[in-house]
Parts: sequence; C-alpha cells; structure tokens
Amino acid sequence: MRPSALNPLFASAQALTGIGPRLIVLLKKALKLPPGVAEPRVLDMLWHLPTGVIDRRAEPEVASAVPGTIVTLKVRVLKHRAPPRGNNRAPYKVACEDESGRIDLVFFHAERGFVERQLPVGETRYISGRIERYNDVMQMTHPDYIVTPENRADLPLLEPVYPLTAGLSGKILIKAARQALERLPDAVEWQPPSWIEARGWPTFASAVSHLHRPEDAGDVSPGGAPWQRLAYDELLANQLALALVRDNYKAQRGRPVTGDGRIQRRLTTALPFQLTASQSLAVSEIAADMNAPRRMLRLLLGDVGSGKTIVALLAMAIAVEAGAQAALMAPTEVLARQHAETIAPLAEKAGLRIGLLTGREKGKPRAELLSRLASGEVDILIGTHALFQSDVVFRDLAFAVIDEQHRFGVHQRLALQTKGADGGANVLVMTATPIPRTLLMTHYGDLDVSKLTEKPAGRKPIKTTMASTDRLTDVIERIRANVAEGAQIYWVCPLIESNEKSELAAAEERHAHLTQIFGEGVVGLLHGGMSGTAKDKTMAAFAANETKVLVATTVIEVGVNVPNATIMVIEHAERFGLAQLHQLRGRVGRSDRQSFCLLLHVSQLGDTADKRLTMMCETDDGFKIAEKDLELRGGGEVLGARQSGEAEFRIADVPGFETLLEAARDDAKMILATDPRLTSPRGEALKTLLYLFERDEAVQLFRAA
Ligand code: ADP
Ligand code: MG
Repeated sequence: MRPSALNPLFASAQALTGIGPRLIVLLKKALKLPPGVAEPRVLDMLWHLPTGVIDRRAEPEVASAVPGTIVTLKVRVLKHRAPPRGNNRAPYKVACEDESGRIDLVFFHAERGFVERQLPVGETRYISGRIERYNDVMQMTHPDYIVTPENRADLPLLEPVYPLTAGLSGKILIKAARQALERLPDAVEWQPPSWIEARGWPTFASAVSHLHRPEDAGDVSPGGAPWQRLAYDELLANQLALALVRDNYKAQRGRPVTGDGRIQRRLTTALPFQLTASQSLAVSEIAADMNAPRRMLRLLLGDVGSGKTIVALLAMAIAVEAGAQAALMAPTEVLARQHAETIAPLAEKAGLRIGLLTGREKGKPRAELLSRLASGEVDILIGTHALFQSDVVFRDLAFAVIDEQHRFGVHQRLALQTKGADGGANVLVMTATPIPRTLLMTHYGDLDVSKLTEKPAGRKPIKTTMASTDRLTDVIERIRANVAEGAQIYWVCPLIESNEKSELAAAEERHAHLTQIFGEGVVGLLHGGMSGTAKDKTMAAFAANETKVLVATTVIEVGVNVPNATIMVIEHAERFGLAQLHQLRGRVGRSDRQSFCLLLHVSQLGDTADKRLTMMCETDDGFKIAEKDLELRGGGEVLGARQSGEAEFRIADVPGFETLLEAARDDAKMILATDPRLTSPRGEALKTLLYLFERDEAVQLFRAA
C-alpha cells in the first residue's frame, strides 16, 4: 500500500486553491499525464517542469531603471487618472513615485474598481513588470504583479515559466506548483549523503523545490543540477522496477527443460543451409537458459533477414524433446500463417506436430485443435494473439516465443507466460527492430540478449536509390524490364495524410494503374481491409511467383518472407520513419541475388527529409538507422510504444540521458544485490521513490510472493 504521507499528492489537482472544474480541463491539456490518468493530480503539477524563468530580481529606483527591462519597484501611489468620459481607448493611469522619480502605471480597458482596490492612494506597493519610457515619462503597462509589503513573498523574484495551453495563465500554474510542493512529505531521500555530495547535486526535496521556486536561471535548465537529479530519480525508479520484475520472474523456479538433440538434428539436416555462427550461438544460449532451474526471459535481437525464425524453431524443438509443448506468437495473421508455412515442411521431416490458431480458426476445426492441444497431440502451436483466449489450454507449455514483440503490449507479453503448466513458461521475445541499447534498458532493464550479428552467408547488401516521383514513367519502364527477366517486386503505397484520399484508395489506384501496364493477373493487391482468406490468397500467389508485382499498404512491413522478391519500391518514402523504411526494405535481400530498393519521393524534398533518405541509401545497418531514428523521432516511435501504450519519461528526457541511465542501472543492481526486497531504511525510501514515479507495480510483487 502507498505510504499515507503520499496521499495528498495523489489527490485531484482540484484540491489545490485556485483550481476548479474549469481549469482542470485546461490543465489536462497542458500536462503530460501518464496513460490511464484521467484527471491531473497534485503530483502531476510537481512533474510539470518550467521551461525558463522571468527574472524580476532587478530592483532599481525608478529614475535609474533601464527602459525595456523587467523590474520590481517599490512605489507610493499618488493619484488615479481615469480616461475622459466616452473615450474607451484612452488608458486608465495611476501615478506613483519613489524617492528618485515618477512613474505611471497604465491600464487599458481597466475595470476601475479593481485598479482602485489594488492601488489605494497613499499606500506603498511592490510592482513588477516591463518598464518603458513614453514621452519622457517612465511607465509600466499592466504590471504582472502588484503586492502589498506584507505579501512581498508572493512576488516571485525568479518566476518559473511553465508550458501552457490557451486559457491557462502562468500565475495559476505557479500557485498550484507551490501548493503541490507543500504537500511533499518532509525529508524523503533515498540516496546516501555521500552520493549526493560526490555528484554535487541537491537532495530530492531541494531539487523539486529549486525547479518550482528557482533561485537562478540554471535551476530550471534540463542540464542543471536540480533537473539532472530528478531525471536520475525517474530513471532509477524505472530501472529498479524493471529489475524487481525481472528478478522476481527469474527467481521463480522453472522446471529445467533439457533436450536430447534428437529433433534438432533432424531439423538441421532438413535445412537447405548451414546455420550462421550467431544463429548457433543463440540456440545454445537459449538451451542453457532452458536447462537452468530458473525461468527464462531472453530477447533475440536480429536485423531483418538475419534468420530468427529458424532459431525459434530449434529452440522450440528443445521443449518438445523434453516432452513438453511450445508456442510461437506473431503480431499479424499474415505473419502467423507465414511462420506456419515455413515451419510445416521442416516440422514434418522432423516429426513435429504443429497447429495454427488465429482469429480465423472457428467452430469445429478450432475445437478439435484445442482438444489436441490439451491432450498433447500438438507439439508446437503457432498463432496470433488468439493464443491468449482463455479456452486455449496446453497440456504442458514449457516455452513461448513472441515474434516482433514490440507490436505487443506488456500485458500481452505476460499473459502468454501464464499459460505455462505452473503459471509461467520460459519466454523468448524476438524483434527485428534493432533496438538501441538505451531503449532496451529503459524497456527491459538488464535483460538477457542474444544477438544475430551476421546475415546468412552470400547475402549482398541491398542497393538503395532515391528518385523523384516525376520519374515514375521511367521507373515503371525499368521494372517492366526486370519483371521480364524474372524479378518480383513489392510496391508499397504511401502513408496518407488526412486531407488526401485514403491509404486504401491510393493502393487501389496504383494497382489499377500497374495492371493496365503489366496486364491482368500480374499485379496483386494487399491491404489491411481485406479478409484473412483474401490476404492469404494474394500472399500465396505472390510467394508462388504467379503474380510478379505486389502492391501493398504497410501491412507487409513486418516479417513477410518471399526470397524471390528482389525489388522494393516505396512511394512517398519521405513520409515514413527511418526504422519503418528499414523494415520495409528488409522484405527484399533475402536470397543470394542482388536486391534493390527504390525510394520515390515528392519533387520538392525538404532538407531533413533529404538527409533521411540519403542515409537510407548509404547504409544497410539497422542499428545505425535505429540510432538515427531515435535521434529524430524519439524513443516511443522506434519501439512502437504508441501502439503498446507504454509511458515515456516525464522528466528524464535530458542532455546526458544515456550516462544517467547507465548510472541508474548500476545503482539499481547494487541496491537489489544487498536489499532484494527493499526492507532496509533506504529500501523503504526507495519504495517511496517507486510510488512517486508510479513504478509501484513492482512493489506489489513482494506481497504476491
Ligand atoms: P527474420 O530474422 O527477418 O525473421 P527470417 O527468419 O524470416 O528472418 O529468415 C530470412 C530468410 O533467410 C529465410 O528465407 C530463411 O530461410 C533464410 N535463412 C535463415 N537462416 C539462414 C542461413 N543460415 N543461411 C541461409 N539462409 C538462411
Ligand atoms: Mg521474422
């Protein structure tokens, strides 16, 4: 349970003075809320950090103030001068003075009563705003602050400037943040004094306070000490939570799954090729994990075309050799079927019984499949997320492979594990997205990784070129020549911007156009709106080399494997992200023949777009591309976090991110090595950290265990 001292922070922001039902709606727009949080809470005000400051520290005398600058003045009110009757455009002026001279405070469209209440004649006020000289008179139009000497503290000398939304004023946020600060419990600190001192960073409490009550412009800079400290805390919470989940998962006893090599040998003999060195290494790493009395959780990372499927198959064979079952889950129906088709002939030779379960299997065949699964007559079940359905019961699932996992959310990943005999199966996740190391760490922590570092022997790099759509006719002519020589071509139609016709319409139009040129029956069409059977037929015709050109929307992005296809044309390539282009391009270059990729783009290509496409032409290295993509578009995009709804960092997206992340990872490791259940005094404080950054699911694990 959350420490009760934190409850005031988790109350609705409406609990703060000045925030009511109307403002809460605006706040919701201005604040970056974590998924699932419907209404801003007090805590969210704390994590909404300023982007700069307004400096009101200059407190000159009126006569020596520099026109055009922001100043804070102490003045006596002399006289009110209302505009002449009937003249709405003339301002209301209030004459004030200090020892050195006179100044007029100027109000347009002023509500007279308001001004009179704020500035009673004869009294002293502190005012702050931009000072100007007008016809040799000093004046200040609409001062930002007018306060009495007693309320002097309400006038922030360094005023934080928050990201706003229309209708929301900075003053409201300042006030709300200050109240939120007061609700922060005293003396929460999880880092040892020696660490704080060595870093030269503030304590947690002081860091939050400096961000919302800056004493220096550097206090609100993302590279400044307070922000860096909080970024570190957010990353530490992230790494600690991941490590807890992972340790907890792996600590659970798994049954050692040991193969005898019998089926694996038959499979390797049936293969028309030799495994690459990294494929063999990956298989033995997985075998070692399965053999250990702990649960396995490993990521198989390999660029497109590196041959992950066969690694998965050999690993699944181990489970079957041990007398258990395995599952392979793909994100789309097309992929699941393709896996089944690739695996079926090999499985048959090796004596493996496979089953296929997608949303399309229904009625009696489905019931029969499920009953064979329950009785153990199916060794390997391949499918989509239909595998999660509750009536899918294995006799003894020991090993689950999740392909292209970034398409699945965290919950789905966990759901498959629970299908295992003792509520947990060994899990291998595979991804073709070359996830940069930093992203791996923030999403999985320090997880075991096998990496396929080389492409199968004999593969030539794909030759990539770019061309303007003006040259469409030339392009089609060249393609016609290639088709005549036996080539097969993917033609990917553009992502559509909202003001244009639909993605589908564009693909249909291109399909009709190319059919006109190439003739009936030569050009296939694949798009997301098609029925499953129609998709299969289209894919099968292309795989069998009956159709030569396959016009498709991005549904072919992930995993599709037709080795004879050697040309990829991508229309409006400038609209795709780099990682996506790389995925698409990876559909070709899957045999020992030279493959080509042509990036078609608008004739007026912008500077960045030009750079991006040029980069695609220059490198085939998925990791380089992913790093670049990360730089250009941010992490969530690369991992497909948008689909899976995972939160990004609220604070930690700062200069030095990687170094901070690594330090946080090491710190988390050390903490858990000495205090695995966070029971020491520091451990208790760290639980507070997990609650503050809402990574507290990990804390629940202690109770479950
Ligand atoms: P991905 O890693 O993108 O999922 P696949 O598993 O689909 O790659 O493999 C791509 C192609 O490479 C398939 O046609 C597969 O049969 C072939 N392949 C896999 N391993 C090898 C190898 N060691 N030598 C030659 N071809 C291989
Ligand atoms: Mg694949």
